[in-house]
Amino acid sequence: MTTPIPELVCEVCDKNPGVGVAAVPGVPISVAYCRECLEANAHPYWIVVTNTAMIGGLDHTAEWWVDIVTSTLAHLDITREQFDADVALQAQEWAEEEAKGADPDRG
Ligand SMILES: [Zn+2]
Repeated sequence: MTTPIPELVCEVCDKNPGVGVAAVPGVPISVAYCRECLEANAHPYWIVVTNTAMIGGLDHTAEWWVDIVTSTLAHLDITREQFDADVALQAQEWAEEEAKGADPDRG
């Protein structure tokens, strides 16, 4: 009996087989990439959104991170409006979690 090896699927486009695992620049996480996404300088959307929200918006990030965001949005066919909305939503979720943590009814 053999154990099947899970197939590596690109975590950026979620459709092509991954050619390897690499670290996302500036983010302490490694994900699988396909050749197409590597060449496009595209990274997993949720990481791009989360990291931008953590920094406080695209206006506060370094130029190379803006390049990554721009390349990722173009490659995944996501609009800047959608991206900005998702970043704002993420920041709002964190603010709500923080507010919940301070709730005296809990704990
Ligand atoms: Zn891909």
